[in-house]
Amino acid sequence: MPIIKANAYGHGLTEVARALEAGGADWLGVARIEEALAVRQAGVGCNLLVLGYVSPLRAAEAAAERITLTAFAPDQAAELSAQAAAAGLTVTVHAKIDIGMGRLGVFVQDAAAFLRRMAELPGLKVTGMFTHFPLSDEPENPLALRHVERMLALEQSLREQGLRPPLVHACNSAAAFYFPTAHFDMVRSGIAIYGLNPSDEAPLPPDSGLIRALTWKSRLVSIKEFPAGQGIGYNYRYTTTQTERIGTAAVGYCDGIRRRTGNFLLVGGKIVPVRGGMCMDQCMVSLLDLPDARVGDEVVVIGRQGEAQIAPEDLGRAWNTNNYDAVCSITARVPRLYFYGNHGD
Ligand SMILES: *Cc1c(COP(=O)(O)O)cnc(C)c1O
Repeated sequence: MPIIKANAYGHGLTEVARALEAGGADWLGVARIEEALAVRQAGVGCNLLVLGYVSPLRAAEAAAERITLTAFAPDQAAELSAQAAAAGLTVTVHAKIDIGMGRLGVFVQDAAAFLRRMAELPGLKVTGMFTHFPLSDEPENPLALRHVERMLALEQSLREQGLRPPLVHACNSAAAFYFPTAHFDMVRSGIAIYGLNPSDEAPLPPDSGLIRALTWKSRLVSIKEFPAGQGIGYNYRYTTTQTERIGTAAVGYCDGIRRRTGNFLLVGGKIVPVRGGMCMDQCMVSLLDLPDARVGDEVVVIGRQGEAQIAPEDLGRAWNTNNYDAVCSITARVPRLYFYGNHGD
């Protein structure tokens, strides 16, 4: 079950969904019903699971579109049942177990009763059960292993009681690589399918064959030379200290670069500093080291130029967040172009 929430981690929801279906995905996972509906409207036939909250008022709509929802609490499951049954439909759900995340799901000790109770509800059919590990990207943490053992024991116990749903799943990307005993019937890989590392402690294995799918580029649209002492941009957060050529790139914070000072971009095969703050649609970069830079030159936000590169992990570090956040932040207005095949970046 590839995970394509958040606009497929910034890569573009419907195009990625279509490519994954063509690549043989049985299931696709999203976080919101709107995402599932958009995928359906794009003509994708895969099974769809909404991992997050959906208003029970939309249970019938989900049933009609063959979208599976997450049942994460007894009252919520009862509301889904009531809404679907009132429309004369059956909504399929996967039961969510809280293995220690502290988020959605019933506790392990309540799982059997939860499944028994749902089996009696009209308009509701449990076709799966899943959990989500909070420490999967810290595989060395002993608590992480305890969560895996807890889930294995639960599955075994439910099997013995005749309550095990047909599809059991637990692993996100990091867990799929680092907790091989917890694969059950399928894994839910998000970050890995985009060729990105789950974390520094749980990187993609070198033999995974996964490569970064995304490159983010802009261009230099203007170049000017300024004397020493010239303020640059809003609030003059940078002032030239010598004669300096400065280029304007057509990318700004509304495209998804954080609105902060200290950003950097790749121009002419070199990492160059953004001068001053980010503007909404543009930013200014120093061309001190790049006397040959010309208007129209490529500017890379994420990707490679020759030997140099800026990875989503680098932006994550610079922005005090992670690579997930860096790619999910690329906003909808940035045009996405798709190239199929093993092009690398
Ligand atoms: C986002 C998410 C995933 C995917 O996680 P990755 O670390 O990107 O592989 C899997 N399961 C659930 C419940 C999620 O919310």
